[in-house]
Amino acid sequence: MRTGYVYHEIFGWHDTGTFAGDKPSDPAAGLQPYFNYENAETKKRIHELIVVSGLVKDLHRIEPRPATDAELSLVHTAGYIQNIKQQSATRLGGDGGDLDTPFARGAFDIAAIAAGGAIELTKAILAGEVENGYALIRPPGHHALRDSGMGYCLFSNLAISILAARETNPHLRVVTVDWDVHHGNGTQDIFEQDPQVLTISMHQDRLFPHHTGDRSERGTGAGFGSNINIPLPPGTGNGGYEYAFEKVVIPAIRKFKPDLIAVSSGFDSCVFDPLGRMLVTAAGYQRMTRALMDVAAEVCQNKIVMMHEGGYNAVYSPFCGLFVLQELSGSYKLTDPFGETVNNYPGQELADHQRAAIDAASNFLVDIP
Ligand SMILES: [Zn+2]
Repeated sequence: MRTGYVYHEIFGWHDTGTFAGDKPSDPAAGLQPYFNYENAETKKRIHELIVVSGLVKDLHRIEPRPATDAELSLVHTAGYIQNIKQQSATRLGGDGGDLDTPFARGAFDIAAIAAGGAIELTKAILAGEVENGYALIRPPGHHALRDSGMGYCLFSNLAISILAARETNPHLRVVTVDWDVHHGNGTQDIFEQDPQVLTISMHQDRLFPHHTGDRSERGTGAGFGSNINIPLPPGTGNGGYEYAFEKVVIPAIRKFKPDLIAVSSGFDSCVFDPLGRMLVTAAGYQRMTRALMDVAAEVCQNKIVMMHEGGYNAVYSPFCGLFVLQELSGSYKLTDPFGETVNNYPGQELADHQRAAIDAASNFLVDIP
């Protein structure tokens, strides 16, 4: 089996409370208690579709285990790790630090298992046990900073797994590709000065965080040139994403020649997402996966690891996840029941203002170290 897969039921027990979307309920403001946008449902249902479709039989299950404090410390400060651990031990839990990242008692242990799953999957791919893999982990990681949680993220699962792999392979070169609808600001920040990691984020322009993700952020010091942001206009569909791949992402990977491609996979760029305003479909995610597999075959012996990030439509996210994993594994079980409608939505084709935004980012390929 060529594809590794990480999931654990405990990821569904990470409790983000009864928010009104992304705000605490507040009767005086008219905010009625409901679910937090970031809740267990989408992730559980992706896993259930992977099981019910039969795809799980064609995946190599990799057991997650808790990351150690030493592994978390490869990215995060000792003070931050201690802070999350202490809040997590209290009766009512706490927050990652930005008041947008609430958690209940026990969140530290669950987040450590998410990071540990990321580490184990990356290790298995680099060791050649599997070619590629998907870690369906929760809480997500791409907004987390060294000294703070942010935007539902506690620990930077992807960055931790890269730096853990570098302990045994110090020259490891990695390209990260973030197709979550939000900017991968944490990953960018962690590797900002690191020329061994080329970070690429494609995201809805200034959706979240509102103040990061601009094209002008290109890495600093020795890392200059090794960060590429592709902020996209709201309403970008499969055509725009594919053009960004063709014009920026794939040429950047070819130029950088990594040993591993690491994806921050968010399905909140999908056409039905309640937070994003993009039009990507399951078939669109599948084609992006294929494009990465083709370039990975050229430059890095097929090695691709994917870490789950956002995605908040509980009905459609499972199909996006299934389509990515079907392509990674070469085992095709189901078609997209929504496909005929959403793949033909007006607006799926590349528009001129989207082309201009992508062309502007392609000017930076020349400075890739
Ligand atoms: Zn997101």
